Amino acid sequence: MDSTQFLRQLILHLADSPSVSRFVHKRDKSLGARRFFAGVTLEDAIATIRELNGQGILATLDHLGESVTKAEEAQVQANAYIDVLHAIADAKVDANVSIKLTQMGLDVGREECLGNMRRIVAAARESQNFVRVDMEDSQHVDATLDVLFALRRDYDRIGTVLQSYLYRTKNDLERLIAEGVTVRLVKGAYLEPESVAFPQKADVDRNYLELVDMCLRRDHYVAIATHDEAIIQKVEGWVKERQIPRDRFEFQMLYGIRSARQRELAAAGYRVRCYVPYGTDWYAYFMRRLAERPANVGFFLRGFFGN
Ligand SMILES: Cc1cc2nc3c(=O)[nH]c(=O)nc-3n(C[C@H](O)[C@H](O)[C@H](O)COP(=O)(O)OP(=O)(O)OC[C@H]3O[C@@H](n4cnc5c(N)ncnc54)[C@H](O)[C@@H]3O)c2cc1C
Repeated sequence: MDSTQFLRQLILHLADSPSVSRFVHKRDKSLGARRFFAGVTLEDAIATIRELNGQGILATLDHLGESVTKAEEAQVQANAYIDVLHAIADAKVDANVSIKLTQMGLDVGREECLGNMRRIVAAARESQNFVRVDMEDSQHVDATLDVLFALRRDYDRIGTVLQSYLYRTKNDLERLIAEGVTVRLVKGAYLEPESVAFPQKADVDRNYLELVDMCLRRDHYVAIATHDEAIIQKVEGWVKERQIPRDRFEFQMLYGIRSARQRELAAAGYRVRCYVPYGTDWYAYFMRRLAERPANVGFFLRGFFGN
């Protein structure tokens, strides 16, 4: 294992530590955490989306939170998302929502989670908005897809995310294409064992392109969620060569990462959506962003040791 892989694994382990979480929360500004989220209130988030929309960029809003273990807490989290959907409709901004099912009580129980998601989906239906179910670690993939398919019986403007680091993903994508579910493709952000995920980045990247190609060739709407310039350029090449209409896919990137490139792609006429997280529960999200890039780790360590 090289030093980058070691650091990545260390940080993803720390993402589960309550004591490190408390420490980092107190020092969010000095550690640079704010760079990755749009503020702590819904008003902050709506203001950010308005700004992005002004630059021709769409948004998907994430009310930060995950791994909820109490039913009451999951209900509170679901209420927050209902408020988000109402705020998006009232403000008339161009945004949908991204939701983690463990925040909606998936670890408490399937029925608990389904009940909360049904309330959210009812609020989305009022404004005909779209709901994206984020994908979490590999232990939750089956349960996430199960809840997604149950929800789609009532409302079809709901999609999910697949991760190119998992061996299983090509099969999952076949199923989602067959069922007409729109997909966001990502590389994957969690610590996974070699038994389920490609250990080599080159394989994750190769698989990513194959999955994108599968969607584009079958005219299946796909969100290409990556900051990887080589992949973005490859897709731009395919779009030109094969004359793929630009309304058949969208690029997605995270708030605070490659913002200039997001604006450039939007100005070039691509559909671009920025993933905008907000709220107080930003620790685990922040740690995954650190783990993705060695330069971020250096930035974090300088803040950690008070330079
Ligand atoms: C819109 C969106 C939604 C996502 N949703 C999910 C989800 O539901 N489930 C899930 O598991 N993962 C999700 N992810 C995260 C994803 O799995 C990757 O961990 C993340 O996008 C980094 O991979 P990459 O494709 O950008 O490629 P990489 O090969 O990791 O990075 C390519 C280049 O992008 C830049 N870059 C990447 N990450 C960062 C960073 N954190 N800081 C600064 N620069 C960076 C660097 O220049 C890097 O060289 C999401 C990502 C996006 C963009």
